Amino acid sequence: MDLHKPSHVVLLSSPGLGHLIPTIELAKRLLIHHNFKLTIIAIKSPTSHAESQILNSATNPSLYTIIQIPSPNIPSNLSVTAHLCVTMRHAIPSIKSTLKNLPIRPSAFIVDIFGTESLTLAQELNIPKFVYVASNAWFLSLLVYSPVLDEQIKGEYVVLKELLKIPGCKPIRPVDLVDPMHNRNDLGYSEYLIIANNLSKSDAVLVNTWDELQHRELKGLNGELSGLLKVHVFAIGPLVRQPESKLNQATESVMKWLDKQPKESVVYVSFGSGGTMSYEQMKEIALGLELSKQRFVWVVRVPRGESADAAFFTTGCSDGFDGELDEIKKHLPDGFLERIKNVGLLIQEWAPQVAILKHPSIGCFISHCGWGSVLESLTNGVPIIAWPLYAEQRMNAAFLVEELGVAVKTTMLPSKNVVGREEIASLVKKIILEEQNGKSNNVRDKVREIMVSGEKALYQGGSSYIALSQVANIIDKQDFIRL
Ligand code: UDP
Repeated sequence: MDLHKPSHVVLLSSPGLGHLIPTIELAKRLLIHHNFKLTIIAIKSPTSHAESQILNSATNPSLYTIIQIPSPNIPSNLSVTAHLCVTMRHAIPSIKSTLKNLPIRPSAFIVDIFGTESLTLAQELNIPKFVYVASNAWFLSLLVYSPVLDEQIKGEYVVLKELLKIPGCKPIRPVDLVDPMHNRNDLGYSEYLIIANNLSKSDAVLVNTWDELQHRELKGLNGELSGLLKVHVFAIGPLVRQPESKLNQATESVMKWLDKQPKESVVYVSFGSGGTMSYEQMKEIALGLELSKQRFVWVVRVPRGESADAAFFTTGCSDGFDGELDEIKKHLPDGFLERIKNVGLLIQEWAPQVAILKHPSIGCFISHCGWGSVLESLTNGVPIIAWPLYAEQRMNAAFLVEELGVAVKTTMLPSKNVVGREEIASLVKKIILEEQNGKSNNVRDKVREIMVSGEKALYQGGSSYIALSQVANIIDKQDFIRL
């Protein structure tokens, strides 16, 4: 590499924190380890305050440049997948003119899974192009194989009685399939198939996992599935955020509260950037946490009657921790706040999640199992109570519980369509109290092993370190690989 002229990598992020955060982390890694020049083109959600805050705080021109493009106006009645795909398609002219007007010509283009139609822009520039899947290799295997399933299977997948077999990986229960596969008549399904077919238009696919975690799936992707995918898959994770070195006031006050709690005694409850609960479910969570008699930090949002991903494009930021809870308070059980005031902390809308998960007082994470949250939990050695809501989260939960043994799963009360308070209390006690009662906690032991394996993968000479170096080499040498 010519040290005087670093390669200029441009990354494209679709709207949503679950896409923006991993894109920024990949950019940082390429900068720190490969000395590239980095530009992130971020298509902004129209209304997400949390996203704006991250975009603005990450804009440090000495490190990398972020160019924000406002989301085009898209009908609001679309499912999240359809909405993201249509948004990214409509944004192509703006992305194209942004690429054209960059002061330094790009040497490579990396898009997330919703940006695959923009790969043609890199084709026009004749530069290497990559898709970055900020999820895991099992999900990627399903995505790659979905066009085949589409041909083979007629009718809705979710009514099938048998498991769906995907070459090179664990079969999938129909109910655990990704959201767009739950309704083949929805626009989101045809958009999802377009993504699957577009993967092979890249020069390689990067995925935020590591070989030691998903060896079988990665071997399948680069083996049995390679005829379909046609490009190599590089596992480069776990890439996760670290807490800011200078904590803001809100984060500091949470840290002070956590500092007063015993080691591994606190349950952290959060449903990602988009998760919302029904009115009844919110009450059950409150009563379940109270019944467990354990300490907790709970990121609360105003409950909604609509879908579980209702906050996806609108996630806010809280500035205070005691104020501004009026709307939420209305939906909490009578006297709840008073009764839990010494053991529970409620954070409105958006919490400093990575700082919380890193704190030694955290004993487990009730999580919606978005892959970003999963990695943040695993890399901090925190066991998970899996409560999947949407997207590929049901697969993530199944993988964590059945393959890795680092999580226990919540079950809905079929009659009420909620996870009941007794179930919540019993799972919390199982994870938090077992070790304190002198019993060995298999789940915690396993998550610690995985934490160490993730660290090793990223060290110099580790599997993900080597994989990203190979990608960097392709970029530096402008070497287009084909299987
Ligand atoms: N997040 C956060 N504070 C919150 C909720 C979420 O910092 O209150 C961050 C979380 O740390 C993760 C991202 O938002 O990095 C959410 O991504 P994930 O893949 O877990 O789920 P998604 O939000 O895309 O469903």
